[in-house]
Amino acid sequence: MKIVEVEAMVLRQPEVRLIGDGTQDCCIVKVKTDEGIVGIGESQTSPFVIKAIIDAPDSHVRSRGLARIILGEDPFNVERIWQKMYSETSVYGRRGVVIHAMSAIDMALYDIMGKALGIPVYKLLGGKFRDKVKAYASTLMPEAEEEAVKEVIRWVEKGFKAVKVGWGPLGHSVEQDYRFMKACRKAVGDDVDLMVDIGYGGDRRKAFELARLLEELNIYFLEEPLSPDDLDGFAELSSRVDIRIATGEKETTYFGFRDLIERGKVDVIQPDISRVGGFTEAKKIASLASAKGALCIPHCWSTDILVASTLHFIVSQPEIPYLEFCVWPTPLRRFVAKDPIECVDGYVRVPEGPGLGIELNEKIVEQFRVA
Ligand SMILES: [Mg+2]
Repeated sequence: MKIVEVEAMVLRQPEVRLIGDGTQDCCIVKVKTDEGIVGIGESQTSPFVIKAIIDAPDSHVRSRGLARIILGEDPFNVERIWQKMYSETSVYGRRGVVIHAMSAIDMALYDIMGKALGIPVYKLLGGKFRDKVKAYASTLMPEAEEEAVKEVIRWVEKGFKAVKVGWGPLGHSVEQDYRFMKACRKAVGDDVDLMVDIGYGGDRRKAFELARLLEELNIYFLEEPLSPDDLDGFAELSSRVDIRIATGEKETTYFGFRDLIERGKVDVIQPDISRVGGFTEAKKIASLASAKGALCIPHCWSTDILVASTLHFIVSQPEIPYLEFCVWPTPLRRFVAKDPIECVDGYVRVPEGPGLGIELNEKIVEQFRVA
């Protein structure tokens, strides 16, 4: 089997707001083969940039567009293809958006392999430890305390055993962050895991102060209270407080996570399959986390292509406790797959069909495609 075409599509809702919601647009990639099997993947990042990296004409050796690098390759040589993409883009790549784009292609290659063999992707990843995964409802923090309380109660009432609130007004005032989370804890009681995501912190003093206050609320993890590059700050924070410190959604490759774990000493790493380098790299990152005693809980806030991928990955791993389940109701979040993946009583089942086990809703693609 040979790869004959790579198509990168940008989907975008008519109005995109500057809020912490990455489901307002997306880049979906189709990798097509000479045997008629088409794999799908996605990258949750700046979609027009991903399309440019895939479609770009060759500049010179080590500075090529991704599609040209993989044409003619056998999709089953997934490790070889990964290394080829990495080295042939190494002048302008190696981290960031090029790895994001490679993630979408890697995901599509696994989808092709699964479809060709008639087996779900998790079987290609070593098989499954379980059929369903406990999910935490992942939502944005409302602007007012009473709205925050209503939001967490809403998802607990729908059966979730854990809820994360993030971004929005968080990160500006330690006093307000603490007050909102205290109200949320009081509302849901002690049996629900609560997580909080600052989104992009910076001030070490604020981070230390907030982490200490959150200790008494039994928060499951505090996410991104510092800049993603403040590894020394993360190391100090993790060693000083009892609450788990989480980060990693903006990180790529094994190398990036090696630094986060070894130098940043974070408790929870959050690789996003659509950013870190796909399944091929995520497997290595999870093994590293396991060897170093860090918890791996993937970041997942996009279409059902990423949700399915994350599920296949999680069930193939022995000790990932949670799926991040984005409950934000945009059309791309909810309807990109023909049969949307549902959360039932706080758990989500891994798709059992061939490949990723989801079918693209071409009507939605047609409706929202802008490039
Ligand atoms: Mg986050």
